[in-house]
Amino acid sequence: MAKKKINKKELANLLKQWSQQFAIFVPSREGDVTKMARWNGEDISFLDWYRNTTISPRDNFQPQVEEMFSFQKDDNSYHLELPATDEQKRVIFAIRPCDARALAIVDKTFKDGYEDPYYLRRRNNTVLVGLSCTNPRESCFCTSLGVSPGESDDVDLMLTEIDDHFLIEEVTRAGSDLVAQVSDLEEATEADEAKAKEVKEASHSKVTRSIDTENIQEKLLSCFEDKEYWEEVAAKCISCGICTLLCPTCYCFDINDEVFRKQGTRFRSCDSCAFSIYTSMPMENPREEKWRRVRQKLCHKYEFYPMNFNVIACTGCGRCIRLCPVNWDITQTLKGLPAKSTA
Ligand code: SF4
Ligand code: SF4
Repeated sequence: MAKKKINKKELANLLKQWSQQFAIFVPSREGDVTKMARWNGEDISFLDWYRNTTISPRDNFQPQVEEMFSFQKDDNSYHLELPATDEQKRVIFAIRPCDARALAIVDKTFKDGYEDPYYLRRRNNTVLVGLSCTNPRESCFCTSLGVSPGESDDVDLMLTEIDDHFLIEEVTRAGSDLVAQVSDLEEATEADEAKAKEVKEASHSKVTRSIDTENIQEKLLSCFEDKEYWEEVAAKCISCGICTLLCPTCYCFDINDEVFRKQGTRFRSCDSCAFSIYTSMPMENPREEKWRRVRQKLCHKYEFYPMNFNVIACTGCGRCIRLCPVNWDITQTLKGLPAKSTA
């Protein structure tokens, strides 16, 4: 398929053309936190500082808190009302390949098995425009999980920086439709494509942290009952939940009702298996001890999810390493798994 390119100076113009039909989301700063937020129609300075967002783009599909419905009780029945929805189609611009892969992983739960209407409404309404990651952080280990920082099959359109231009590659039909809406794109040359290939290969080699995923399920299974080992692994964790709440592949949520007299609203909010009351039940709490919760976090990603969906639920984005207040490092734990436990 013929590839296009655009001068970086024309990026605002490109986004403006798309914004006639789509709500555009770009990397944005909110205090110390960065996330994908609604574009203001002018500013493309994110190109100067953006590496990846603190809050992953999963938040754009499964927000921290959302209203599910409101209800009103009459004599013998409840009347339910769904919240108003914004039907405008969206473009998420500059998503990194790791975070696009994370959405494909979360799809296994919210799309391919049980169909979650709240997630799917946003997922089906969104076009993903990827941007090659040319400056991975020290905490990134995506290449160990089959993600390449420079390219992606999980987006609709992929952009790669080549000097003062972006090479534009169409990945899906939705991506081609986006390209068709833009006037004044230049045809990419063979030299541009060769340059983009170089950029992608260089990005790949800049990811220096790695883990070995071979036999990882068996290793986790063999030490599953080794309480002493897991206590040591969990020792410094303070159960703050940051690693899971910011992880692009964690999706657990809790449901609560806010009720006043005969009416109320049902909300759902993101939850974390790191919290001690996460599995609290009337008769027992099977994960009251911290080591069981840390074990759950790791095993869910590297043992149970592959068992259920044939894919590891981690993209190596490194957020949990970078943002943990006590420097708990998932890669160190995975590297230190006993070959075979004696427990
Ligand atoms: S961010 Fe660190 S301290 Fe907080 S729950 Fe995760 S591992 Fe534990
Ligand atoms: S477990 Fe850590 S490295 Fe893996 S996807 Fe989640 S935040 Fe990223």
